[in-house]
Amino acid sequence: MSVRPKKRLGQHFLTDPNTIRRIAAAIDAPPGAPIVEIGPGEGALTEVLLSHHPQLVAFEVDPEAITHLQQRFPSLDVRVGDVLDLDWAALATELADRQLEAIPNPQSPTPNSLHVIGNLPYYITSPILFALLAARHHIARAVVMIQREVADRIVAEPSTKAYGTLSVQLQLLARPRFLFPVSRHVFRPKPDVESAVIALDFADVPPLDVDEEALRQVVRTAFGKRRKMLRNTVRELAEAWGGSLPDALATRRPESLTPEQFVELTRALQGT
Ligand code: SAM
Repeated sequence: MSVRPKKRLGQHFLTDPNTIRRIAAAIDAPPGAPIVEIGPGEGALTEVLLSHHPQLVAFEVDPEAITHLQQRFPSLDVRVGDVLDLDWAALATELADRQLEAIPNPQSPTPNSLHVIGNLPYYITSPILFALLAARHHIARAVVMIQREVADRIVAEPSTKAYGTLSVQLQLLARPRFLFPVSRHVFRPKPDVESAVIALDFADVPPLDVDEEALRQVVRTAFGKRRKMLRNTVRELAEAWGGSLPDALATRRPESLTPEQFVELTRALQGT
């Protein structure tokens, strides 16, 4: 029995055992760690994950897939709902409590406790990535399969075509790693685009000494007109915020700034 793939839910099911094993291995979660799968679908990844992590919790939105998963894995904790509505803080607390009950004399759970994995539904890749960033204090690591082109943007270096908003935000708030590309031929049905698996490590990322909302606005404003010099795009923010645009940055284009320089720029524009 299989699940009828639904395009509107971004359903492209993995069919290659080798790829499935590689993705599951990349999460590298310690035994008993709280682990969450986004969009289990037919359960290709779920099966491998469950064999190492029986405590897995999976979030799926498709009722047909949920019925399939419940029959295939009777012990799986599969929850119905939109991952974008998920309260990650509440989930982290619930799973940390459960971990404490399950393991006698456990080491105390770290604040970065969750391990998140998923072959993401591509129609909502960015919202899911930004939800993970917002919840990063509750997440140790996320391993996600996404469109190759998005993965390239996330790990892009300054002064390259792919460098932009996603690169700056993700590189400042996580340690992104490009793990491996995945061909479109290992899915049913085949997606229109190539894919890649990335890891986002959130543990040990130093806190940012900047107003994060202001940083987001600066990055978005600057890359909104990526061919223009900063004096023509973000100077207005300095006027609104009471700071100034440093002369050394005024004639630069956004793609030439490192992520750390965006932090400095934001602080200067805010006068802090
Ligand atoms: N993990 C399976 C695999 O690798 O074969 C399926 C991956 S498929 C690309 C994405 C899965 O995410 C689908 O099962 C889809 O139903 C589910 N999904 C789509 N939108 C979702 C949402 N908003 N919240 C939770 N799951 C969602």
